[in-house]
Amino acid sequence: MPDLAKHANEFQILVLSGPSGSGKTTVVERLILESSVPLVKSISATTRPQRKGEVDGVAYYFLSADEFLRRRDQGEFLETAEVFGAGYWYGTLKSEIDRAKAEKGWAFLEVDVEGALKIMALFPHALTIFLQPPSLEVCEQRLRSRATDSEETIQRRLRKVHEELALADRYCYQVVNDQLDQAVSEIKEIIARHAM
Ligand code: 5GP
Repeated sequence: MPDLAKHANEFQILVLSGPSGSGKTTVVERLILESSVPLVKSISATTRPQRKGEVDGVAYYFLSADEFLRRRDQGEFLETAEVFGAGYWYGTLKSEIDRAKAEKGWAFLEVDVEGALKIMALFPHALTIFLQPPSLEVCEQRLRSRATDSEETIQRRLRKVHEELALADRYCYQVVNDQLDQAVSEIKEIIARHAM
């Protein structure tokens, strides 16, 4: 656990990870609205296709693979990961961290475990939280109920769930998302404690 108190007055980074189906998206939305500390959500760039209802520049910056790799090679990213093996690229743009600094909030990164490990190495005082699904069954159920992904994608995501759970103990905190309200308040309390 990093000595977060020592860095209380510094620019802070909050990292939240959790496997697909952990209910992360709703938790992220609630935290942005309810946290006592202003959280500036970093908008990631990705090469995955835009889902119905997702707005470019809000959910993600949707980039072509060429554009993503060009910008990566120009050093525009803090971290990138090819999240589903031979699948799609995701990455945190350095400009998103600058935006959070300018808005005087904590940079709030929702990234996969690979990305989170890179952020931990770059910012040892980052506050990192792993959102645990209540069970693997619930995780699979949530993934399937989304009904936007193909069976192949669902299987790939389920394999990744296992890999991610194995690394959960690298985070400062693990929170089980069994009851949404409870998980959200637990995270809000953790944030508030570290903001003091
Ligand atoms: P989805 O395609 O369901 O929106 O996201 C898939 C995975 O990509 C999630 O585990 C999410 O946390 C991760 N992800 C989203 N943005 C980033 C990013 O900027 N960097 C990394 N490493 N992972 C990301």
